[in-house]
Amino acid sequence: MTERLEQYAILLDIILIDRIPDPALKDRKTLITLHWKPRARILRWPGLCLGAVVMSYFGVLSYPQPAFAYHTSYRQFDVWSDRPIDAGISTVLDDATRRMSTSELYSSDQKFRVFFCNATWRLGLYALFQTKVGGMVYSWLTPNIYIRNSVIAENRIVSPRKGPMRDAAHRPLSYFIAHEATHVMQARAFGRFYLPFYPTWLNEGYADYVGKAGDFDIADNIRLLKANDPALDYQQSRLYRGYHLDVAWLMDTCGMSIRSIYAHPPSEKEIIKVLKTENPNCALARTN
Ligand SMILES: [Zn+2]
Repeated sequence: MTERLEQYAILLDIILIDRIPDPALKDRKTLITLHWKPRARILRWPGLCLGAVVMSYFGVLSYPQPAFAYHTSYRQFDVWSDRPIDAGISTVLDDATRRMSTSELYSSDQKFRVFFCNATWRLGLYALFQTKVGGMVYSWLTPNIYIRNSVIAENRIVSPRKGPMRDAAHRPLSYFIAHEATHVMQARAFGRFYLPFYPTWLNEGYADYVGKAGDFDIADNIRLLKANDPALDYQQSRLYRGYHLDVAWLMDTCGMSIRSIYAHPPSEKEIIKVLKTENPNCALARTN
């Protein structure tokens, strides 16, 4: 083992300082001591510092409770905020629960933690510097749900962009909470470390499917898809509506369960190809 470690050390010496050791040098330990170790020490500290910063940041993301001044509990939710929490939060959470309970991944004994980041800098801190998002959860790391500044009494988030919020009628604050909570449920059902490897259309499409709780017209959206409407293209609209259509069609039209779709996710290209045909049929779903 020691012999092999020394060989690795010499290899690193070659890689790090671009120097081929003298083949006549018989004492490898001398070579390591003279050449590799000092340079390794120089490299070690920045590496350790960077590692410490990353671990500290993950700690901040995982345990943000002390940084939020206000807290309340309601049903299976714990809610924190950087501003006083409006009493209307119970109505919002009731509606979020109604949406979440349409999912077969939901159970009433699951707990959810929601953090309202009303200050933009705070959202940037907890949403990995993305200040335009409505909500965010890094379910592979923590089940914490972060929500942007919101008007709880009116069940809405404040638009992240100038002008009216896109698709606002179908996306109240309770939708955003249910969407992010669905990511938590997906992580619990399919594995937090495996979830990022499932297709984006499936993860986001199902979160929207649950978040909107049936507030979605499949036939109308197929019509828009065939017309190449930008609302169904995430790259253009930043909406998950196209992904939602894929999932809604597989589940509501073809009768698939979400667990069976996750077991064998079809290709999104294939789904879109079928949906654009004259009479989309479920043969694709049945072969998966
Ligand atoms: Zn999402």
